[in-house]
Amino acid sequence: TRTQDEEDLPHATKKTMADHLRKYESLFTLTPQRMRMIVEAFKDTLELGLEKNGQIVPMIPTYVFGWPSGDERGEFLAVDLGGTNLRVCLVTLQGEGKFEITQSKYRLSEEQKQEEGQKLFDFCAECLKTFIDQHIGEEPGMINLKEGETLPLGFTFSYPCSQQRIDHGELIRWTKGFGNPNTEGHDVAAMFRQSLAKHDVPANLISLICDTTGTLIASHYVNPKTKIGCIFGTGCNAAYMEKVSNITKIKELQIDENAEIAINCEYGAFDSFHHEHLPRTKFDTIVDETSNKPGEQSFEKLVSGRYLGEIMRLVILELIDDGVLFLGQNTYKLEVPYAFDTAFLSLMESDPTDELLMIIGIFTHFFAVETTLAERQFFRALAKLIGRRAARLSACGIAAIVSKMGYLEEGCAVGADGSLYNKYPGFADRIHEGLVDVFGDKGRSIVTYHAEDGSGVGSAIIAAMTKARKDAGLY
Ligand code: BGC
Ligand code: MG
Repeated sequence: TRTQDEEDLPHATKKTMADHLRKYESLFTLTPQRMRMIVEAFKDTLELGLEKNGQIVPMIPTYVFGWPSGDERGEFLAVDLGGTNLRVCLVTLQGEGKFEITQSKYRLSEEQKQEEGQKLFDFCAECLKTFIDQHIGEEPGMINLKEGETLPLGFTFSYPCSQQRIDHGELIRWTKGFGNPNTEGHDVAAMFRQSLAKHDVPANLISLICDTTGTLIASHYVNPKTKIGCIFGTGCNAAYMEKVSNITKIKELQIDENAEIAINCEYGAFDSFHHEHLPRTKFDTIVDETSNKPGEQSFEKLVSGRYLGEIMRLVILELIDDGVLFLGQNTYKLEVPYAFDTAFLSLMESDPTDELLMIIGIFTHFFAVETTLAERQFFRALAKLIGRRAARLSACGIAAIVSKMGYLEEGCAVGADGSLYNKYPGFADRIHEGLVDVFGDKGRSIVTYHAEDGSGVGSAIIAAMTKARKDAGLY
């Protein structure tokens, strides 16, 4: 421990750290005026995506037509291939906005994110088979399956897919660090069906959705004031309900001008390639250029959980290189890409002790370096800058939809989910502050709340809606 005068030590002092902090403050702070400019450009981008095919922000019609009635019922399987985990669920919809869910979770390894695409779907099928075998039974909450029967399955696949039907989807591009070969450009529903058949899984894939669409529908099922579903997690994205008459790029949809369809915006791609609108620092440029998809998902790379820790690590590395931090200490553990977890930023911001003991813990346990109090205060302040920028940019994405749809007057509820939203201290408050910075006092009518489980329950509700449409001879 360091009780002696800190000035004697080869560590950064309080004054030098405060000087450095000022520099980063100006890099990472977003003024309300800048936010309003971003929202305008964002809104134009969303509109363009509805007009023309092949846009950077693709505004994908999901073939989920309209809201759930709240009275969807039945037993459904759901498989959720997220950015971090694979989840397998059995959902029983009981009507009146009620449901029960049983589930198992599997962590995906970094290798699995790069192996042959079909192998990834084989893994999903194997996990589902194990889950079904464990849950076959007569009792309530168990799967009551007769010989030769199959259960309807909703597949939540949270990567941009272009769809012409709800039970099909061509992967446009992998995001969130995935890179499995022979999957982009392919119908992932067909690939998963092939794996299900190969492993004799008694499940019938009837709908393919993205987590945001599931979040939108599941949140509306329990709170009909919901108009937007958002994810702030490993990746970021939003979905909302659009009139088909506004989706001018798709002629075939223009049958009934009152019909509505959920749009998966895929707005994590905003400002990709051109980098005209977002305030990128040199650290953001490095994150982008060293990623497996340079140029892509520009918005997502500034705001989502996969990248915030990496941004912080790169700032720390700069200060190490400049001889400001950790002089004379071995910093090799900090030099490993993605070694700095975004969870560390939340921990730093929530450290309740004066000495910042949790921050001591993070640096000694994970990186084997010692810190002074001045450095720890700096790290906490830096985490706050990065976390706050992420939340304020997230607010810009929501604001773009609100402004495009004219939701400001009547107000709207936004169902939000994902690790950042649920676990990062103050993330939701910062989004709300950001909305007020964009819209003034009227921004208070936009309220985010913790969504229902979109990828499990939402997937089941959509499977039920799809089944009902099919039974009614629609599709
Ligand atoms: C994906 C979206 C997804 C979001 C949140 C993004 O990387 O492209 O489909 O909704 O992450 O999981
Ligand atoms: Mg998820």
